[in-house]
Amino acid sequence: MSGDALSQDPAELRKRFDNTKPHPARVYDVFLGGKDNYPADRTAAAAALATNPRGYLDVRHNRDFLRRAVTRLAREDGIGQFLDIGTGLPTAENVHQIAQRISPGTRVVYVDNDPIVLAHARALLTSGPEGRTDYIDADFENPAEILEQAAKTLDFDQPIALCLVAILHFIEDDVAYPIVRELVAALPPGSRLVVSHLTEDLNAEKIRGVQRSYTERGLTFVLRTRAEVERFFTENALALADPGVVPVHHWHPDHAAPVPEQPDPALLATLDAIDR
Ligand code: SAH
Repeated sequence: MSGDALSQDPAELRKRFDNTKPHPARVYDVFLGGKDNYPADRTAAAAALATNPRGYLDVRHNRDFLRRAVTRLAREDGIGQFLDIGTGLPTAENVHQIAQRISPGTRVVYVDNDPIVLAHARALLTSGPEGRTDYIDADFENPAEILEQAAKTLDFDQPIALCLVAILHFIEDDVAYPIVRELVAALPPGSRLVVSHLTEDLNAEKIRGVQRSYTERGLTFVLRTRAEVERFFTENALALADPGVVPVHHWHPDHAAPVPEQPDPALLATLDAIDR
């Protein structure tokens, strides 16, 4: 680990930390049954669940998509480097654990802007001796900083999988599209982009209720259609890999994890890895 992010002054960290407002990472942690959340996060999660009672399942399906995507990238595409922006709180299986089980030399850089994720980041820096992990405390809106810091751990001459999993719906269009373009442009040939995203194409009424419950609490929440999600790929001349943008649990299902089947489509649409 570089240690830069983790050596931050605790007083500075406290200043940034406001547990009176919900934060996406901690609301997500409530859905996953985690313990690193506060009353404001639990109230926000309860409001979202009131309109979409399947919220718990949706995050599990999303997490399981991440597992399958990382597994395929490491095993079948030989990807040995991951840049995971919008990491979330450490949970049972993080990207480096999944990938290093297949390829012990895998390098992973995690990025998040939540001070609580930073406070728990040591749990992400448990690389095996052959690989490396690092954590960058930065905002998606600062791609130059992310790329500069990531280059301390990742080799930008070798393929990298850029993972933007369940983060882009917290970012407005005028920021999200240009920054994805900037990040993708920095990746060498053979790299991949992995995206999952909340959509209003499926279960529109329920997900719009969730959107309202988030925006009422001051959180940005942008639902994108399948075409709008595809745009992250097409406008960067990335060819969508099979099966394209599909509900998360339809993306190369392997049924390895005990995620209950859903009677309706999941809320999250997803994208796959792509070749440049
Ligand atoms: N990728 C994980 C976590 C998704 S929750 C998963 O799919 O399981 C979304 C994460 O994005 C949260 O941890 C939140 O803190 C982070 N996030 C949201 N906006 C961000 C921003 N502007 N910059 C960096 N991280 C952000």
